[in-house]
Amino acid sequence: MSAAQREGDACVVCQKRWPRPRVRVGRFPNDMAALACADCAEALVPAPLATVVAFPSR
Ligand SMILES: [Zn+2]
Repeated sequence: MSAAQREGDACVVCQKRWPRPRVRVGRFPNDMAALACADCAEALVPAPLATVVAFPSR
């Protein structure tokens, strides 16, 4: 992981700096936000709604 990724300057997945990563996908131990570009974020966090629906309700 590069310094740019740790500082939120580059996508944590594909390391692209442009377009700027703007989706928070996690957190580093030093409390910095882990940012990913829209494409990678979609792959990392697929359809949050589906998870809620799949959760068994009692
Ligand atoms: Zn990316």
